[in-house]
Amino acid sequence: MPGVGQAGGLPYAKGVLESHSASSVPAATAPLVSVATALEAVVTGLTRVEPEHQSSKSDSQQAVPEANPGDKLSPPQPLPAAPAIEEQMVRKAPVMQPANPEREPQAPPPSPPSRMIPPMFVVMIASELAPVAKVGGLGDVVYGLSRELEMRGNAVEIILPKYSHMRYDHVWGLTRAYENLLVPWFGGAISTSVWFGFVHGRKCFFIEPHSADNFFNRGVYYGHNDDAMRFAFFCRAAMEFLYKTGKHPDIIHCHDWQTALAPVLLWEIYQHLGMRHSRVCFTVHNFRHQGITGEHVLRATGLNRPEYYFHYDRLRDNANPRALNLMKGGIVYSNFVTTVSPRHAWEAKDDGQGHGLEPTLHIHQCKYGGVLNGLDYDQFNPEHDPHIPAHFNAASLEKKYDNKRALRHRFWLADNGKPIIAFIGRLDAQKGLELVRHAIFYALNHEAQFVLLGNSPEAGINDHFLGLKQQLNNNPDCHLEIGYHEELAHLIYAGADLLIVPSRYEPCGLTQLIALRYGTVPVVRSVGGLADTVFDKDFSDRPLHERNGYVFAHADNAGLESALHRAIRCYYDFPQHFQDLMRNGMRCDNSWNHPGQDYLNIYDFIRDK
Ligand code: ADP
Repeated sequence: MPGVGQAGGLPYAKGVLESHSASSVPAATAPLVSVATALEAVVTGLTRVEPEHQSSKSDSQQAVPEANPGDKLSPPQPLPAAPAIEEQMVRKAPVMQPANPEREPQAPPPSPPSRMIPPMFVVMIASELAPVAKVGGLGDVVYGLSRELEMRGNAVEIILPKYSHMRYDHVWGLTRAYENLLVPWFGGAISTSVWFGFVHGRKCFFIEPHSADNFFNRGVYYGHNDDAMRFAFFCRAAMEFLYKTGKHPDIIHCHDWQTALAPVLLWEIYQHLGMRHSRVCFTVHNFRHQGITGEHVLRATGLNRPEYYFHYDRLRDNANPRALNLMKGGIVYSNFVTTVSPRHAWEAKDDGQGHGLEPTLHIHQCKYGGVLNGLDYDQFNPEHDPHIPAHFNAASLEKKYDNKRALRHRFWLADNGKPIIAFIGRLDAQKGLELVRHAIFYALNHEAQFVLLGNSPEAGINDHFLGLKQQLNNNPDCHLEIGYHEELAHLIYAGADLLIVPSRYEPCGLTQLIALRYGTVPVVRSVGGLADTVFDKDFSDRPLHERNGYVFAHADNAGLESALHRAIRCYYDFPQHFQDLMRNGMRCDNSWNHPGQDYLNIYDFIRDK
């Protein structure tokens, strides 16, 4: 394959391995990788974080930039003092209110003290945005974080593909904002329209290419053979749009592999054309999907020196020397990299969940950390939710049972004294589907009802659950709904007693956060963000008033059963304790309040000052 030169391959591979072993932390002693840890490392280390390739001396000697090789970024700025950063960045777990004998709901805890951070112009580049284009949690996070940043006085714009099957009923005032944007592609250009519209108040630009490729008119968001090309085009178009419209965001925030090429394009092409002010934050929502592709993506996007990019310090995949890894490029070229919980940041770097990117995370660990996702407390609010029949809060829990009745009515379930156990999510192997299946039968055999809402892009998985649905069709204690229904999900969160999340891995997980908000007790596997947000009623080392669910360690039937058994018995035998758990969960602050501040601190740290 062109570009995989012998001269470049071996030494770089060796360099990667050496850096890896030099910076490894034994898993048993490795701390969780919070942004505080990462920033502390940067502060005690010497330099401001710039993309690796720019600060590498040997690179600058070898590399020829795409344009204006003499251009340099602005010089490093003085760093803020370490204590100030620590004070602001540490967020190990959601803050909970102390127990109060009256069990009254309390106001959310105050924001952490903040230094004066000037308002910033932030551009999100993302492949999903709730509710117009949502497959999973990514869409929720892009919407919720953007809203929080705007509420704190920042200007936020979001760039998305213009999918033909988006929910246009959630876009207000859609108009063409830029006609005939010529996006460089394979040495020529694709004429592209950019549309503007508001999505529940958020300012959004939608990229619509006019080409026979029909990149975004496919009826589904992901799952095509040319996904890498589709989203590479999206990245090039988004950057070209920023450049041609003279926008100079302080921060470009990219999400997952689909947008990972944007920082590569910024530092390799657009900074040399004058975009020297912007800095990039890259958030990995799921390490499993990395955008593994080939050289054609480089030729398409105008990154014309394959031998330069096929380099272990840049985009060359750590496992397959003939492949490019777009997510790796995003990590290498971004000024700061986050994943969506401190626990998962450690799991990905040191506990074998980085799907091959562990060496890259080690090399870049001083600009890497975990920020727990928040939940949009306006969208998921049992006091005002338009999709549920009875509104309630921690002080009026009895009204939750009207929603339970409505849920049973909707699904023709028997109206009896049993608890309802629910599962909501993508039907993906990641979610522990064999344990979900086991939980259904365990619930039905142990005096509980079960409700499932989920779907999969894979026909085989859907068929399996449709078969199960048929098998259980006449059971008055069970309903499986195969499909995607935003509104129905709200009714289930509000009406169920328990929500099961038995994931094999879970970078953050939103369903347990939504459940907590609706007084539905989560039963989760101790992994990723689940471990950071759910604390076991019986075994957590937290104070009683902070315990909010049931947690099991091993991804097997025995582990699941032990937690479900305790939950069901508590529901029947100690209803008062069960209600305490519900209220403890409702009192957690999992809003965007804290993560919003965390991201602002990161932006402030990396921005061009
Ligand atoms: P992931 O991002 O891995 O899909 P998360 O737990 O982070 O998982 O986020 C899932 C989000 O998608 C939640 O808001 C959940 O309510 C929603 N969701 C998942 N599947 C469905 C479905 N079939 N119908 C409605 N909402 C769904």
